[in-house]
Amino acid sequence: MDITQAIRAAAEAARPAATGGKVADYIPQLRELDPHRFGLAVVELDGTEHVEGDVDIPFAIQSMSKVFALTLAMQQCGGERAVRREIWERVGREPSGDPFNSLVQLEHECGIPRNPMINAGALVIADLLIENCDEPVAEILNLVAELTGETISLDPATAAAEEQFSDRNRAMGSLMAAFDNLVNPLDQVLDVYNKQCSLMMSARQLARSVRFLANDGIDPASGRQVLSSSLAKRVMAVMLTCGTYDAAGEFAFSVGLPCKSGVAGGIMAVAPDHSGICVWSPPLDAAGNSLAGRVALHDLTDRLDLSIF
Ligand code: GLU
Repeated sequence: MDITQAIRAAAEAARPAATGGKVADYIPQLRELDPHRFGLAVVELDGTEHVEGDVDIPFAIQSMSKVFALTLAMQQCGGERAVRREIWERVGREPSGDPFNSLVQLEHECGIPRNPMINAGALVIADLLIENCDEPVAEILNLVAELTGETISLDPATAAAEEQFSDRNRAMGSLMAAFDNLVNPLDQVLDVYNKQCSLMMSARQLARSVRFLANDGIDPASGRQVLSSSLAKRVMAVMLTCGTYDAAGEFAFSVGLPCKSGVAGGIMAVAPDHSGICVWSPPLDAAGNSLAGRVALHDLTDRLDLSIF
């Protein structure tokens, strides 16, 4: 089936599902999102863009930033052995089976977060970025600017609200510091994390920005090797198994692609050797993933036979 037709059909099938979800309300910037927004973008490796709906409205990427932060941390390590030593000794690679901000698991597992896609793991990655980059947030912004071909900025009001709401992340950070798994001052680590969550990107830009993963680590727009193909594979594996909170099994089952969602209702997906995909619809299901977003990706991957399985 033609991709343009498929995204139109998937959007039509998915839009009504949004009414069953609930927009995140822990900060005003999310609470005020229009629940009727819906955008779906598929950007092929050759640059052809297929879009439907609100694909050019920037929204806070929230947890999706964890993919870019991990990518930058891997780049900074500068090789697979260093990645093993500096990242995988401090963060695991198992699905958590617990909410993305669970403290209980972290206590049980001596301050080693289950994976880099949950908040505790993302704090360790932010800590690593502080050690390795002069300006971690600016470097994340540079990375996404390079991948999208456009200037990306962050929303200071969202970052400030995240900071105000960061008690639980602060608790996780303190726990990890007590287990010697954070090196830098917690305020500094939280600042990087809150700011990376506040990057404003559109569905079209997010779809472009994950194409390097679909292309063996090479950004198809510039030809630059962003990550080695082996590391790109690892990032996708972590997205598939841990990228959609406590519903990664359901996503593997129904969508069959490495995905990462965020609490503003975005979900980006990687279709290896094919495209980068992003869907945006703010109302979330009980697991915290965009409800219509999941329906759209399920429908789209069935129509285009994109599941990796
Ligand atoms: N800023 C949110 C938090 O750390 C991100 C949540 C998300 O998108 O999963 O609580």
